[in-house]
Amino acid sequence: MLAVWYSFTMPSPAVTISQRGVERVLSGHVWIYRADLVDAGEAGAGDVVRIQDRRRHSCGQALYSSRSQIALRLLTRDERPVDTAFLAERIATASSLRRQVASDAQAYRLVSAEGDLLPSLIIDRYGTCFVIQTLTQGMDRLKPQIVEILQQAFSPRSILERNDVAVRALEGLPEQKGTLAGDNINEVEVEESGLRFVFDLLGGQKTGGYLDQRENRLAVRPYSHGRALDCFCYTGGFALHLARHCDSVLGIDSSPEALLLARRNQQLNGLTNLDWKEANCFDFLKAADLQKQRYDTIVLDPPAFARQKSKVEAAWRGYKELNLRALKMLNPGGFLVSCSCSHHVSEADMLAIVAEAALDAHRTVTVVERRTQARDHPILLTVPETHYLKCLILRVL
Ligand code: SAH
Repeated sequence: MLAVWYSFTMPSPAVTISQRGVERVLSGHVWIYRADLVDAGEAGAGDVVRIQDRRRHSCGQALYSSRSQIALRLLTRDERPVDTAFLAERIATASSLRRQVASDAQAYRLVSAEGDLLPSLIIDRYGTCFVIQTLTQGMDRLKPQIVEILQQAFSPRSILERNDVAVRALEGLPEQKGTLAGDNINEVEVEESGLRFVFDLLGGQKTGGYLDQRENRLAVRPYSHGRALDCFCYTGGFALHLARHCDSVLGIDSSPEALLLARRNQQLNGLTNLDWKEANCFDFLKAADLQKQRYDTIVLDPPAFARQKSKVEAAWRGYKELNLRALKMLNPGGFLVSCSCSHHVSEADMLAIVAEAALDAHRTVTVVERRTQARDHPILLTVPETHYLKCLILRVL
């Protein structure tokens, strides 16, 4: 604790950036790449630093990483101290948006990193439990203050960390998970739009759930009918919503752990028109297509196929194949919900992929809704990377 206090009271080291780096800040982006550093001066791993141009004019303050290609993540353009009060104010600003856009949600993203001007910090709320991820050296160092702020503001039952994510390796940080404060809890039961879900906060994917799809799961309800398929169903997020409106729903996922929870979620809600299958969705869809299976509602919510730019071509082929198979199997009047969470594949790309798939499948398709991530995952206008989720709702004529 003393070390943290000490670092807050010391004058911040200065890092000099190139003209291109300055232009990036002026363009509203919050990342500065290592190639745009001129002189890192005394900056150490995870320091809050002052950024300056070659003439020593200040450009703001940032978190410095000694390892990542993203060397600086801008916190503020001004000179105010980056201390606990600063962080508390940013978290309060984030929280006030959630009161507006997620007031009826028990599980939501309280802080969405860059989208809330708290780069590399994720805070997800599941009822009275909070799960955090600190994904850079700088944010990781601020963990004690973040825990303290959450305790003061929300009196949570438990605060956990899910820092068992591969991106931390780029920062030279270890993968770790566990309780940071309060009770040792790993499972919570939370309501989402009238359905009950169990989240495994320590063992589940991400921080336990895919909160970014919350609004889309609800949005799909009015179109859901007949025989439904939820591909990449995880713990049944879409499937349970579909089950309320469809005759039958089949959820498919390759993760047995996810399907165990999906079954529990089904029982918890007393739903009987659901089935689950452990399979690779590519194999399943191929076989179902060959068997001339027909459906009325299909959800495709695959994991990110293009985490890096170099994977875009392969991702394009993956999305194309999934959408092609799904479109071929839909009855007239059927709906396809086609998602992508790769930010390297834009909405325009997704529309082009589905258009190609529709032409190949000889189907006429209308775009009923073009959606994105839930509003508790804000898109920072000048940081395109914060717009990552695409969710197209399409109707086959
Ligand atoms: N729709 C879900 C989230 C899906 S996340 C929700 O709303 O909660 C993506 C899921 O795809 C994960 O559960 C993962 O286990 C699964 N998955 C990844 N690759 C797969 C594959 N090739 N076939 C089937 N499932 C896969």
